[in-house]
Amino acid sequence: MRHLGKADIMAVSPPGDNPPQPPARVQTQTELRMKIEKDRVVRFHYTVAEAGQEPIESSKDRGEPLAILIGHGNIIPGLENAMMDKEAGATFSVDVASADAYGERRDGLSQRVPKKHFGNTRLAPGQQVVLQTNFGPRAVTVQKVGMSVVDVDLNHPMAGKDLHFDVEIIEVREAKQEEIDHGHVHGDGGHQH
Ligand code: ZN
Repeated sequence: MRHLGKADIMAVSPPGDNPPQPPARVQTQTELRMKIEKDRVVRFHYTVAEAGQEPIESSKDRGEPLAILIGHGNIIPGLENAMMDKEAGATFSVDVASADAYGERRDGLSQRVPKKHFGNTRLAPGQQVVLQTNFGPRAVTVQKVGMSVVDVDLNHPMAGKDLHFDVEIIEVREAKQEEIDHGHVHGDGGHQH
């Protein structure tokens, strides 16, 4: 059995006799018409800032859009709601109140954690670290570092903050059944497993 080499593929259209470009936009137009709704996958770029301040984070810094499965609690409700019915190519800004973002700050969420759970991480008060918990990874803020224990604030670092998002929708597609079953996106910008 012979495998197609690059030369074979090149030979398909002889040089100097290029047919008019095939309607490569057809696929794109299909995607453009697909609206964001439950059980669809959205790839998007975002920049987030605390209301009235400089950006905290942007997907463009990572160089690849974020991919999420709509309707499965994968992003904060305020951002998901703002995306609904939009299509690839859309850009928009939205202000999300803390209640629809990471929730309000709650008192009494300090917890004393054995230092060994932090591995070799050098810890300082005010530092944000990700702690592996029974409920998955959780971002916490270090309050106090002792000899063998660390006090952390379990409030999400963004809790209590009103946020401003600038969003660009890159792609909208149907989710695969496996993605719906898992509740998250597989492949580009999602889970790699
Ligand atoms: Zn999965």
